[in-house]
Amino acid sequence: MTARILVVDDIPANVKLLEARLLAEYFDVVTATNGEEALAICANGQVDLVLLDIMMPGMDGFEVCERLKADKATMHIPVVIVTALDQPSDRVRGLRAGADDFLTKPVNDQQLLARVKSLVRLKALTDELRIRAQAAQDIGLDFLLSDGIGGCKGKALLVDERRNSQDRIAQILRKTADLTVVSDPQKALFEAAENNYELVLVSTNFADYDPLRLCSQLRSLERTRFVPLLLVCDQGEENTVNRALELGVNDYIIRPVDPNELIARCNTQFRRKRYNDHLRTSVQNSIELAVADPLTGLYNRRYLDTHMQLLIERSIARDRLLSVLAVDLDRFKSVNDTYGHDVGDEVLKEFARRIRQTIRGIDLACRHGGEEFIIVLPDTEGAIAEKVAERLRREIADVPFTVGVDEQQLNITASMGVASLSGSQETPATLLKRADVALYEAKARGRNRVVARAA
Ligand code: GH3
Ligand code: MG
Ligand code: MG
Repeated sequence: MTARILVVDDIPANVKLLEARLLAEYFDVVTATNGEEALAICANGQVDLVLLDIMMPGMDGFEVCERLKADKATMHIPVVIVTALDQPSDRVRGLRAGADDFLTKPVNDQQLLARVKSLVRLKALTDELRIRAQAAQDIGLDFLLSDGIGGCKGKALLVDERRNSQDRIAQILRKTADLTVVSDPQKALFEAAENNYELVLVSTNFADYDPLRLCSQLRSLERTRFVPLLLVCDQGEENTVNRALELGVNDYIIRPVDPNELIARCNTQFRRKRYNDHLRTSVQNSIELAVADPLTGLYNRRYLDTHMQLLIERSIARDRLLSVLAVDLDRFKSVNDTYGHDVGDEVLKEFARRIRQTIRGIDLACRHGGEEFIIVLPDTEGAIAEKVAERLRREIADVPFTVGVDEQQLNITASMGVASLSGSQETPATLLKRADVALYEAKARGRNRVVARAA
């Protein structure tokens, strides 16, 4: 996977070194030698990851990171702090500033690439969700900009078989997370699959079990593949860490665990999980909003307009038939006037339900306007479409609609126009027009009837 990486360092030799390593892996590299320049490049978009030096004259790396994370336009870009400082307090400061990770100079090649690849993968997922969510105007990400995770504890699972280690981690995280502790990795897998955890911490200290097996299983199960994983390991386990990162483990921490660092790392994972979950929900909502009519659950007009074109083209290309019904409730205005708008809405819902009940799965029913509906019937000739329309007409007219709190019975009728595909010149507009003319005729001839219109 290729990605554009921004390397920021005030010392040109450091920039060159990182640049060379990344270019060797076919990453696209841009560089900056101070904070302002880095912010300007990120603001222009198209940066997938930032490798950021801390000690720079003027604006230091912490501030650059804070600013990136405080701006909606750049907050989703992963930031890795690269620093000669290896005091736990500096790491914590970096993570508090919103950094996604840090590397210590001199940078170990394998770790650099593992980290970069894992963050770039995560960024690609976030990007895809962001693009899809753009249709939904209000993504409402503001709450994520706030410090920490909005005072709300994260739901986390700890998998660790040693009692004293469990106790220590539980003690550190008591204010940050609702922690469930499991000793047996196989039980942990079920536990994670059956509950919505926001983070799974996996300890490497098992006597005879490979913790990476659990990580890999969690990554491959549908139910858990998005859950952040944090490895708790010991000094000297670099190989395990590298393999874990390759497997898609999001982060790791080395014992002895520094309490502030663990809290900061957990919060980073909670934040990112919530950000992505939020995007995912918003994508789902915008898809539903985009195609469905909220009152009746039928397709909306926009959907019909795009899909009818496709259905017609396909029918013409395969030399198949296709018919449409234009359906309109009779004297619906008087239902509203007599019983109120809410009862009118109930009638529309029930009307839609009867349409759904009458048509086949491949037919496309849509609410075209207030009390007008269009039903597209693929592979259906005019004579059959007329029969379908007649059946629907009876479904409406023969059984009164029960509405309101006092369960009143209303007699409702509808008029319908039928038109069928004729020739290769047909467009959605010409076909709908003929159905509409037929519908108008049905109204003119007394309503509660079906009229078919030949081409
Ligand atoms: P016709 O038999 O000629 O179709 O008469 P009609 O009264 O059904 O037709 P008209 O077009 O005059 O009125 C349509 C009515 O549908 C008017 C409008 O208030 C009502 N309507 C449109 N959308 C909705 C809706 O979402 N809910 C409710 N309750 N009423 C709606
Ligand atoms: Mg009407
Ligand atoms: Mg009308």
